Amino acid sequence: MTPHSTAHSTPHSTAHSTPHSTISDLLMKTAVRPAAVMARGSGSYLWDEAGNRYLDFIQGWAVNALGHSPAVLREALTQHSALLLTPSPAFHNRPQLELARRLVELTGAHQVTFLNSGAEANEAAIKLARKWGRLHKQGAFGVVTTHGAFHGRTIATMAASGKPGWDQLFPPYPPGFAKVPFGDAAAMEAAIDSTIVALMVEPIQGEAGVVVPPPGYLAALRRLCDAHDLLLIADEVQTGVGRTGRFLAQEHEQVRADITTLGKGLGGGVPVAAVLANERAACFEPGDQGSTFGGNPLMTGAALAIVEAVSAPAFLAQVREQGDYLGNVLDELASAFGGAVARGQGLLRAIVFDRPQAPALTDAARARGLLVNAARPEILRLMPQLAVSRAEIDEMATLLRQAYASLTQA
Ligand SMILES: *Cc1c(COP(=O)(O)O)cnc(C)c1O
Repeated sequence: MTPHSTAHSTPHSTAHSTPHSTISDLLMKTAVRPAAVMARGSGSYLWDEAGNRYLDFIQGWAVNALGHSPAVLREALTQHSALLLTPSPAFHNRPQLELARRLVELTGAHQVTFLNSGAEANEAAIKLARKWGRLHKQGAFGVVTTHGAFHGRTIATMAASGKPGWDQLFPPYPPGFAKVPFGDAAAMEAAIDSTIVALMVEPIQGEAGVVVPPPGYLAALRRLCDAHDLLLIADEVQTGVGRTGRFLAQEHEQVRADITTLGKGLGGGVPVAAVLANERAACFEPGDQGSTFGGNPLMTGAALAIVEAVSAPAFLAQVREQGDYLGNVLDELASAFGGAVARGQGLLRAIVFDRPQAPALTDAARARGLLVNAARPEILRLMPQLAVSRAEIDEMATLLRQAYASLTQA
């Protein structure tokens, strides 16, 4: 397979062709990466240093809400970098205040705090629930989470996650996390006892391969929390900020979680995350939580520009429309491939095979200039930018068909 190329090589093209002891050996081996070095991006496209162009349906892991380096984000970064970078978390700054106000307006939350990554936001959400348990539930601190969940890579958020094998990686983990099957409200209810303070779920499990729960699941968890006086924590780090066609995925079921976390798409490509809490749950006091870079004006100014663009009703309607279109295209592809089904919501989608086809298909697609993600050996995940066009979706389908055909011919 030869790399898809739309431009000839740049002078850097030999950088990844050295057979051994390459510069990439200087990086800790935390991930298996292809040799290409990504150099620049624009909208739905990414280019490597060799000049190969890729249609990007990974988008920084569902991060680049408006695609690579959109003008609104570049302008916000330019404006805020010239004004003020970090006054210290001990002082107010205007973009942080405005972003808090906008998120409260959009979600009905009472208060917000800002962090730098999804894991940190979830860690803070767990702390908030534990504090609330101390104040209102005789010290209850247990959180019920789900098998297959992904809540982050700090020790506590790994303990909250249900990724297969993770319990063996870095023990001992902090106690206080019970695990039940995802999508099963009765199992959640059975796990509730006097030690439990919160139920924590992703509205759709992203990293597990876009696992969509049965309709009514989130609403059922909301009722359980109301009946048992518990907090509902929605990890919307992947599903939030328009990804599913609503500003928050929980809106599809008219549910309001007590605590919601945002990350990934919030900054449109730069690191910023948030914890939103309603009045009942917002019990942090000075000293309980903090972050050196949390809420800095460069990142919150960037996020404000992204949130303004994405939350516009016409924009969200467009995400739903393109999401439906992508869903139909993936249904067709899945039936053409055979032994496969498509699933997902909005612009968070997957094709699930009955065989471990996704890694080879991902490689074959990349060789043809298409970036998609093998979330699991049998699951191909697609998370294009929210402003993806129909022509780009059609181009994806053509490239994916070619990639699939190359596998079956091999
Ligand atoms: C990516 C993700 C996280 C972790 O976010 P980081 O920014 O990588 O720490 C947490 N929860 C969900 C649902 C995610 O998709």
